[in-house]
Amino acid sequence: MKIKLAEFIISNSDVSKCPKDHIPEYAFIGRSNVGKSSLINMLTNRKNLAKTSGKPGKTQLINHFKINNEWFLVDLPGYGYAKVSKSLKNTFQKFITAYFEKRKQLVSAFVLIDIRHEPQKIDLEFMQWLGENQIPFSIIFTKADKLKPGAIQRNVELYLQKLTEDVWEEAPNYFITSSSSGTGKEEVLNYIEQINLS
Ligand code: GDP
Repeated sequence: MKIKLAEFIISNSDVSKCPKDHIPEYAFIGRSNVGKSSLINMLTNRKNLAKTSGKPGKTQLINHFKINNEWFLVDLPGYGYAKVSKSLKNTFQKFITAYFEKRKQLVSAFVLIDIRHEPQKIDLEFMQWLGENQIPFSIIFTKADKLKPGAIQRNVELYLQKLTEDVWEEAPNYFITSSSSGTGKEEVLNYIEQINLS
C-alpha cells in the first residue's frame, strides 16, 4: 500500500468523542520510548505526524489520523510511566481500556516491543489483557537496526517462547521493523491493506 494522504483528525481522552466514521481502524501502542512515533512517521512518510519523545508537550491522548481516506491509524499513549505497576489498572489510564473495550471500528492493535529488551511484565500483561478481551493484535518489534541479524533472530525467538510459555499456546503474528532503515514498512502496510480488502 502506498500512503498518499495522512491527515491528523482529532485527539481526545474520551472514546465516545472519537470519529464516527465506520472505516477500519488500527491502533499502535507500546511502552514509552519504544519508537512508536518514529514508526508512525516512517509508515506514513511524514517527519512529524506523530510527535517523537524529544519534543515537548507530548500528549497523552488518543490520536486519530486518517490514511488515504480509507482507514484510521490511531496513536495511543505510551504506557509504563508508573514506577510501581502492580496491575494493569494502576498503569493504564481508564480511557485506554475504554477505547479497546468500546471502539467497534478497531480491527487490530499493534503492540510495539523494543527488539533489544527481554520480555517485560507490563507488555506481557497487556497482551494477555488484549487476548482476554478478544482484541486481535500483532507485535511490532522496533529498532531492528540496533542489532545484528543473528541477535534479532535470537531475541524474537526468545520473546515468542516466553509469550507462548506464559500467555498463549500460539505465538501472535509479528513484524520486525526499523524506523531508521525502513525495514518492515511494506510488510506492515501490506498486512493492513490485505485486511482492508478482505
Ligand atoms: P515513542 O516514545 O514510543 O513515541 O518513541 P520515539 O519514536 O519518540 O523514539 C524514542 C527514541 O528511540 C528516539 O530517540 C528515537 O530516535 C529512537 N528510535 C525510534 N525508532 C528507532 C529505530 O528504528 N532505530 C533507532 N536506532 N532508533 C529509534
